Amino acid sequence: MNVHDLSDGGGGVKNPAGETYSGDHALVHEEPLIFERGRTAVCGVDITSVELTADHLGGLERTDEIGLPGLSEPEAVRHYVRLSQMNAAIDTGFYPLGSCTMKHNPRLGEKLARLTGFADIHPLQPQKTVQGALALIAELARWLKELTGMPAVTMTPKAGAHGELCGLIAIRSALDARGDKRRIVLVPESAHGTNPATAALCGFAVKTIRATADGRVDLASLKQAVSSEIVGLMLTNPNTSGLFERDMIAIAEALHAAGAYFYCDGANFNAIMGRVKPGDLGVDAMHINLHKTFSTPHGGGGPGAGPVVFSQRLAPFAPLPLVLHERDGLRLVEYRGEAPDAKPLGRMSAFHGQMGMFVRALAYMLSHGSDGLKQASGDAVLSANYILESLKDVVTAPYEGPCMHEALFDDVFLKGSGITTLDIAKRLIDEGFHPMTVYFPLTVHGAMLVEPTESESKRTLDRFIAVMRAFAAEAKAGNADAFRQAPVFAPRRRLDETAAARKPVLRWTPPG
Ligand SMILES: *Cc1c(COP(=O)(O)O)cnc(C)c1O
Repeated sequence: MNVHDLSDGGGGVKNPAGETYSGDHALVHEEPLIFERGRTAVCGVDITSVELTADHLGGLERTDEIGLPGLSEPEAVRHYVRLSQMNAAIDTGFYPLGSCTMKHNPRLGEKLARLTGFADIHPLQPQKTVQGALALIAELARWLKELTGMPAVTMTPKAGAHGELCGLIAIRSALDARGDKRRIVLVPESAHGTNPATAALCGFAVKTIRATADGRVDLASLKQAVSSEIVGLMLTNPNTSGLFERDMIAIAEALHAAGAYFYCDGANFNAIMGRVKPGDLGVDAMHINLHKTFSTPHGGGGPGAGPVVFSQRLAPFAPLPLVLHERDGLRLVEYRGEAPDAKPLGRMSAFHGQMGMFVRALAYMLSHGSDGLKQASGDAVLSANYILESLKDVVTAPYEGPCMHEALFDDVFLKGSGITTLDIAKRLIDEGFHPMTVYFPLTVHGAMLVEPTESESKRTLDRFIAVMRAFAAEAKAGNADAFRQAPVFAPRRRLDETAAARKPVLRWTPPG
């Protein structure tokens, strides 16, 4: 940490030209670790030591120092506020991270999620005291079934990847129930990494399916690969190249004819909600990332939420708990055998899912209405196509347009310039933009996946387009140095991201 320490009477002060003595830069403050800011030997508040006369710890009381940093309340508040200000956030700037759907989180949803009747209840409260919360979960479930055209939904998975796991365990349960030992899952080569990882976690082998020259699943290779050995296919639609998979029905028919299942990764549902129902396309299970499509913050207030919708064939295997509508109210079924037709696969989480996310998602749906949701998906696709059309004469795109909700570019336009996709991403940071997704999907060389979402104004898109066009012009002029230096205005420059991922230092150790 490069903080110039003034506390030692100035001995540690270095002030190279243009650098400040404090290490802070006007409103951008430098911030060390909390352990470096607070000394563990002192306490942040004055408390008179208490003489313990009798305790109930039976000799198990702590004898060594607790080792927490001693900070006053204002020091602790500043520490966390300063850290938060070093972070890119959807509330501070354009965040076109492809495949992540970083849309605006309406304040209405935030306000409703904080209502005490939703925020301050406990999952073990008597059911009759939380009928409103159960009704909200049931209403959200109804909207999800309606929007996807699927007969059943489970609300408890806590993220998209957790939903995938839930869907594949349901498929495995269905196979087990009919004594079927097949164990191979098909995954397209452009798939999100969670798809093959989920299949592997369920004990399945993964077989890759080729893409066509226009970026879709190759139907002929798929048909060839499908057999009585195949568990099913995991397919994202629109896919991770931002393209709609046209052959959904033919794919579903080929899978079903072989006794296999069709898992759809619904992370990109924002592009088709209100327009296409996966249930009409022959899908058997699909997770929905509430934190992508329905505006709940990514990781806000804890994990996200990844409800899974099921076809009739898989519905009996949906995990517990189930919500039953009964004459005197809603009832949670918590144990196997309490619902006669169900063969639940078990549980995906301890309780009922992410209540705060459910409130935000339903608030988003109800405030938009079905017509508003349809407009949101249309506007998301329009924004992406606006970016694709405005850039593709100078930033190369691997596939012929139009695209769905995200615009995919490659690095062909950088050939011979000495500039890489990573350099472009780093320089976008200096321009105040969160970089787009880079080097994904893997099927495209030096991929840049830009997802603007429906919540950005044309003015913001135009600023981004202008910056990207200027970058392309500089690249053409051979100004590689300006790119390799970037970012120059960020609190940190280029980090060793590989080392950070492979050898993370997650623990502070007191100096020797
Ligand atoms: C985001 C995403 C996932 C995983 O969802 P999480 O909520 O991050 O676990 C899976 N597939 C695709 C295509 C995604 O974009």
